[in-house]
Amino acid sequence: MWVELDGWTAKLRFSACHLIPHHPKCGRLHGHTYAVSVKVFGERTGEFIIDFEILKGLIAEICERLDHRVILAENDTRLQITKDDQSIIVETGGKMYQFPIEDVTLVPTDSTSAESLCEYVASELAPGMSPGVSRIEVRIDEGLGQGAGFTLDIARTGAGAGAGT
Ligand SMILES: [Zn+2]
Repeated sequence: MWVELDGWTAKLRFSACHLIPHHPKCGRLHGHTYAVSVKVFGERTGEFIIDFEILKGLIAEICERLDHRVILAENDTRLQITKDDQSIIVETGGKMYQFPIEDVTLVPTDSTSAESLCEYVASELAPGMSPGVSRIEVRIDEGLGQGAGFTLDIARTGAGAGAGT
């Protein structure tokens, strides 16, 4: 059994900019409108696998964190990231960018590809899932017609939830 939210029509979207270091085209700072679609598999506890409003709220909170920001992957070894109180300086491929700190969201990934953002979103959603949930599928589109997906299986051990493969 599953429930699904479509990022485009459920308005779970964000606009942001990023870069893919060393990529001939995507190595330049550029932006996308992203849509986050999520499918949650599991058994019902009561009426729902998970209440749509709760799931929407969790996704919207992540979108809010990323919306109108520069997204940087803090574990990307191709980036040299230096921070002070007011700014973040990024050096990569002989280029240097300086951003006001409030304009940036650092994500704990090694890339800001759609694939990596899916992994990030799935791991952020996992702790908020209902007890019956066994799997989360996240799809992130970079504009219409281009997207990536990631599946996170949630291992249930007694009272708590842990991330599986
Ligand atoms: Zn891009």
